[in-house]
Amino acid sequence: MSVGHVSPIGDLIDHNTATGEADCVCGPDTVPVEADGGGVNWLIVHHSLDGREQQEGGAR
Ligand SMILES: [Zn+2]
Repeated sequence: MSVGHVSPIGDLIDHNTATGEADCVCGPDTVPVEADGGGVNWLIVHHSLDGREQQEGGAR
């Protein structure tokens, strides 16, 4: 089992992606993802604090 991080690039804050825990001020979600050889890896999805996620699918 391994843990990865997905964090917004160039966000206003520094995300804590150094550990394998969802320990960050943005309150990340931990989601299971199927591993290639079976089993489950965990992905820690960080949230941008500038509201970028609401603009997903926008003009840019
Ligand atoms: Zn974060």
